[in-house]
Amino acid sequence: MPELLDIPFIPALFSSSRGHGPVDMLVIHYTASPTLEDCIGLFRNPDHPVSCHYIIGLDGATVQMVFDHDCAWHCGVSRWGDRDRCNPSALGIEIVNWGQLQQHEHRFYCWPDDYTTPYEGVSPVFLDNAWWAPYTHKQTEQVVNLSRTLIESYRIPLHLIVRHSDIAPARKIDPGPAFPWENFKAQMRQTIHDRW
Ligand SMILES: [Zn+2]
Repeated sequence: MPELLDIPFIPALFSSSRGHGPVDMLVIHYTASPTLEDCIGLFRNPDHPVSCHYIIGLDGATVQMVFDHDCAWHCGVSRWGDRDRCNPSALGIEIVNWGQLQQHEHRFYCWPDDYTTPYEGVSPVFLDNAWWAPYTHKQTEQVVNLSRTLIESYRIPLHLIVRHSDIAPARKIDPGPAFPWENFKAQMRQTIHDRW
């Protein structure tokens, strides 16, 4: 299977064979970390057996770390419809974003060290009764572009385009309410409608 996109490839330490099932699912995540470089380092850390196919940085710059035809380790314990393991059939996109923040006395903090790490990014947004790091326009634009390419290439149906929080609702909240999910799904619906 040729790679679809001319983007840099930096191999993750952990991945596995998919077996014989189809690649027909797309899972969207946030990294809960500050930069593209930080996330690349995480996926090259032998103490953290996790990985993902693609990472999109704050400026939209993208790297691939697991080949599409290999199984990346991004879903964890997960369930969607009648499948109880999503990794073997899924492609994953990680978006660099701190996720949920906490506010103490007019300052914002990120999750490391129990929310004592100062948040350095642009102004947080208040959604669903919590503060969140916003996604950049370049990120959401690149998520759409990359997802379109993957959806067209692998004929991924709309009901298998999901958030990590959809397939692991007891454990995960990413990509969170700051990601424009309904707008993204509408664009993917249009992509699928135009093609098939
Ligand atoms: Zn995730």
